[in-house]
Amino acid sequence: MDNELLVNILAESMSKDHVTVIEKLSEPKRDEELAAELNVKETIVRTLLNDLHVKSLVEYERTKNKKTGWYTYLWKKRDNKVMEYINNYLQNRLDGLYQTLNEEKNGMIFKCSCSRVSFEKATNTDFICPECNEPYLAFDNSKEISEIETEIAKINNFLRSV
Ligand SMILES: [Zn+2]
Repeated sequence: MDNELLVNILAESMSKDHVTVIEKLSEPKRDEELAAELNVKETIVRTLLNDLHVKSLVEYERTKNKKTGWYTYLWKKRDNKVMEYINNYLQNRLDGLYQTLNEEKNGMIFKCSCSRVSFEKATNTDFICPECNEPYLAFDNSKEISEIETEIAKINNFLRSV
C-alpha cells in the first residue's frame, strides 16, 4: 500500500494499528510472526486481525499440528476487499456530507457558545440553549458550506482516480 491517502482513510475508519497489520501482510504471515515483527503481544495482534477479518479485509488458512493438536493460522491480506472497503467507506461519507450540505444550505443555522442547531430546534426552546442558557443567534454558515463542498470534491476526485 503505497498510496498515502489510502492509508489515511483506513487509519481514520479503523485505527493506525490496523493499518500497520495490513501493511505487514504484503505476504502471508502467522500471527506470532506478526507479533514479533511489530514487537507487540500475540493477543493484541489477534484482536487486530479479528477486527480486520470481521470487515473481510484479511483471510486465514488454518492448519493443525498433528503432534500438538494446536492450530496455526496463516493470515493473508485481501487486496480487492481493501479497495472495496475504502470505496464503501467513502461512499457513506459522501452520503453524509451531501446530507449535511443540504441541511446547511436549506434552513437557518443558529448558534450559542456550546452548539449549533436548526431553526426548528431553536424554536423548540424559545431561542435559548438548554445547555448553556445563552440565546441562539443566527449564524452565517457560508464557510462551513464551502468546507463541505471542498471535502466532497476531494472524495469525488479520489473515487474517480481509483
Ligand atoms: Zn449552548
